[in-house]
Amino acid sequence: MNTIVDRFEKIKLKISSLKPIKPVNIIAVSKTFTLDYINPLISHGHLHFGENKVQEAIAKWSGPKKENQNLKLHMVGKLQSNKAKDAVKLFDYIHSVDNQKLADALSKHQLNLNKKLNYFIQVNLGNEIQKSGIPVGELEAFYNYCVNEKNLKIIGLMIIPPLEDNAEKYFKTLAELNKSMALAHTSMGMSADYLEAVKHGSTFVRIGSSIFGSRSKP
Ligand SMILES: *Cc1c(COP(=O)(O)O)cnc(C)c1O
Repeated sequence: MNTIVDRFEKIKLKISSLKPIKPVNIIAVSKTFTLDYINPLISHGHLHFGENKVQEAIAKWSGPKKENQNLKLHMVGKLQSNKAKDAVKLFDYIHSVDNQKLADALSKHQLNLNKKLNYFIQVNLGNEIQKSGIPVGELEAFYNYCVNEKNLKIIGLMIIPPLEDNAEKYFKTLAELNKSMALAHTSMGMSADYLEAVKHGSTFVRIGSSIFGSRSKP
């Protein structure tokens, strides 16, 4: 079997061996990898893919998305509001909603383009080093703003734990926050820690290098 498909299947098995209560969606994060690497996974029937740069994603995915309407594309990286229009055109999910200006732009463009995406609010769990994410203290107000005033379909919370820290405590806190807000989904877990994330109820894991191999650039 193709190595990439093989690695993907092994990850699926590891996740299902944890017997998660809610179905877990694996987002194959294909940033920096060309379609040569991705196509075997598409042929295998996988539908969820992630990218972190809008321009790269447009160049790579415009073709495959036209051919296969079932493909779901996830923007997992930092999104500048001046790229919101292109992002709304291409993506199905955006995981990194973390400021009002961006929420305003996304709302405007999805209305103009007559599209309705699924969104996650990226949360910053009180870590000074993290530049992205809504602080917990502002989360409820920001959520209400996105949903009630901007008509964004927020399906859950997203976290990127700081590299140097133990991820599990962040997953636990995010899961609790998610529950207190009665949100259905969490976007947490990457190659190094997806099993811990699934143990804490993650429904969208974002896995790159464990599927595609190591990247030369971030
Ligand atoms: C690159 C990236 C991932 C995947 O990282 P791996 O460690 O390669 O699995 C997940 N989430 C975000 C936001 C990323 O930028």
